[in-house]
Amino acid sequence: MSRESLAARGARAQRIVRALARAYPDAQCALEHRTPFQLLIATILSAQCTDAKVNEVTPALFRRYPSPDALAEADPGEVEALIRPTGFYRQKAKSILGAARGLVERFGGQVPKELDALTSLRGVARKTANVVLGTAFGIPGIAVDTHMKRVNQRLGLTRAEDPDVIERELMALIPEAEWTRYTHRVIQHGRACCDARRPRCPICPLRDDCPWPDAARRERTTGAGEAAGSASRSSTRKRRR
Ligand code: SF4
Repeated sequence: MSRESLAARGARAQRIVRALARAYPDAQCALEHRTPFQLLIATILSAQCTDAKVNEVTPALFRRYPSPDALAEADPGEVEALIRPTGFYRQKAKSILGAARGLVERFGGQVPKELDALTSLRGVARKTANVVLGTAFGIPGIAVDTHMKRVNQRLGLTRAEDPDVIERELMALIPEAEWTRYTHRVIQHGRACCDARRPRCPICPLRDDCPWPDAARRERTTGAGEAAGSASRSSTRKRRR
């Protein structure tokens, strides 16, 4: 697969997009929210944490602080206590308070619909901004989280490690209209099938277009990483951690 031409990779990406659509037609953002503001805050909290855990804390958080104005004025200690189960709670409290203040002071209390404006808010990187744009506003975006990185590397659609580079490479391969749906479907696939430690390759709907099982098998057989290609090497390194 390392000698795959750009055209062949593009055609394979199209087949993967279609197979994912068949396998996960209803995939959507798993973070519960009612407004763009709630989605923004929930996405910041989801760093290094499962969406399910975020969904456990956000109902009480949003009841107590239903708007950017309310959260901007919040007592940090009280916010920390509410979000503590999501981990890194002190830093996350600073981020969501800072983001809320930014919304109030610079955007009239509204979540902006531009990537640059979103990433100017505290605690908001491109991944969070793309989740908000795609899910809350229907503006296509590719959000690279841990599942997107692992699955796309195994699929051989990127060799990059940097999320921003992965995002750019996928934007060149995936039709723009599919960017948000592709993100949700890959994340669901990463959870349901392409597990970090034990990918279920024999039952995977993408197996005909995925180089990873063969590359991993060759690597096991030869004991050398050469045949596996970088996609496999990257994923295998992860499995050994
Ligand atoms: S074939 Fe295996 S490695 Fe490839 S996407 Fe499916 S589960 Fe993941």
